[in-house]
Amino acid sequence: MNSESIVRNAPVDGSFRIIPRSEHSISRKSISSGALRVLYRLHEAGFRACLVGGAVRDLLLGGHPKDFDVATNATPEQVRELFRNCRLIGRRFRLAHVVFGREIVEVATFRGSSDDGSGDRHLVDGRLVRDNVYGSIEEDALRRDFTVNALYYDIADFSVRDAVGGMDDLKRRTMRLIGDPEQRYREDPVRMLRAARLAAKLGFEIAPDTAAPFAALGPLLSEAPPARLFDESLKLFLGGYGLASFRALERYGLLEHVFPGTARALARTDSGAFRHLLEQTLANTDARVREDKPVTPAFLFAAMLWEPARSTAQALIDGGSDASIAWPNATARVLREQAQRVAIPRRFTLAIEEIWALQPRFSIRTKKRVFRLLEHPRFRAAYDFLLLRANESPELAELGRWWTDAQEIDSGELANRLNAAPAAPSSADEPGAAPKKRRRRRRKSGSMPQASGGE
Ligand code: ATP
Ligand code: MG
Repeated sequence: MNSESIVRNAPVDGSFRIIPRSEHSISRKSISSGALRVLYRLHEAGFRACLVGGAVRDLLLGGHPKDFDVATNATPEQVRELFRNCRLIGRRFRLAHVVFGREIVEVATFRGSSDDGSGDRHLVDGRLVRDNVYGSIEEDALRRDFTVNALYYDIADFSVRDAVGGMDDLKRRTMRLIGDPEQRYREDPVRMLRAARLAAKLGFEIAPDTAAPFAALGPLLSEAPPARLFDESLKLFLGGYGLASFRALERYGLLEHVFPGTARALARTDSGAFRHLLEQTLANTDARVREDKPVTPAFLFAAMLWEPARSTAQALIDGGSDASIAWPNATARVLREQAQRVAIPRRFTLAIEEIWALQPRFSIRTKKRVFRLLEHPRFRAAYDFLLLRANESPELAELGRWWTDAQEIDSGELANRLNAAPAAPSSADEPGAAPKKRRRRRRKSGSMPQASGGE
């Protein structure tokens, strides 16, 4: 799709195709009370007020939006005057947040398409670093990313307004970038990830012209701010459609720009076990999100980066390093490489390191060590990670069952059992294996944990 065909889709005069209330499915009942209050108050004060973006898209598809965004011709300052419970945020995009208890309604002023010099728009090497040029609702539609994200639900008459062919693309289940794709990705490379993520979430296809620049422009993602890529990663993998998002990123060749180590590991011929571990992690995460259970980014990243860490450690060991040194080095190296792309906050990288470092400790089944491990604050996550690895290895499956049991029986019985049983030999060739006072020299190879499997 190029800009010419956009124009063909859109009404010739650039105005809106207006879909009256009787011809669309959005009911006020499915709009949050906070968003409705914002819409009505703005409208009563004489401003235009529309629901816009993902909420309109999801409502038209019969879904339940998690947040509601409002667009208006009131400036952020005018919005603040109307709402006591309002704060202005953002530099790149100035926005008003109106707060109702736990709900936050984001209110954005219509943005213009052209800068006559009076506004505040700033491009660096074609990238949009600031955009506070206000404009008409039609112009606002054109600066949005995808046609299905540029539909407006107008509180004045409850109609849906479409200037870019978004309604047709919703019917065709197609993600289509508005305008010239190459230029739009240069302005903001993260739009490539948004295309893949939203296609995955909605079960849409990406229009050929919208996907075509990925190969050439994907590398621009390495210049996107790592903090923003962290936020986008959470949306990709912890938003309830993690497995589908992962597959979309791989299919469209975008994974290598955000998780280069993971993509390299998956490209290797023996990557089956790792792929399985990763897909299982994502499927479990999606199920937890659906059940409203908590999910942690640390666990997910621990899985994403497991094989890069494992193979890096193995290479160091093959080069003569001791496992007790190789693992911490490998861990640091992999996390450092990843930090260039995605700024994983320190509290999560610490947790990732711990999840990995605890893996070998499951093999040490002496009474003292077992009870200490059971009380470790990261036990649960590390145990869950062990179970994932166990899917690929009968030996680890046995170990996993042992630890499942250990948590189910009472501690007296566990103690008895451990007193009776001879301590299992420890397997030290794993992440973070603590240096022991006196250690046997280990074999140099053939004793590392497999991708997600045993040792
Ligand atoms: P989600 O279901 O993930 O919330 P969304 O489409 O609502 O999807 P948001 O990040 O909440 O995504 O953005 C709200 C709206 O803002 C989008 O629908 C789109 O119209 C616009 N938008 C968001 N990000 C961009 C971008 N990078 N470039 C242009 N427009 C954008
Ligand atoms: Mg949204």
